[in-house]
Amino acid sequence: MRITIDDQLCIACGLCEELLPEVFIMQNQKARVKQASPTDEQIPALEAVIEDCPAEAISLSETSDV
Ligand code: SF4
Repeated sequence: MRITIDDQLCIACGLCEELLPEVFIMQNQKARVKQASPTDEQIPALEAVIEDCPAEAISLSETSDV
């Protein structure tokens, strides 16, 4: 699984960093992914953040390299 943020959509609200600081960090007025491959334990919280992101800028995709 791989986490990506669409820079064009992100409105820099900071919610993702607040909810999952080990995965997201705010830099230069945009959210950045610190940890692109979430652990199984992080998936439920991550799905909640994806749901709550007001800009729907975060996505989780399947990858074969995890
Ligand atoms: S929650 Fe969404 S809009 Fe807010 S900073 Fe994170 S990616 Fe950007």
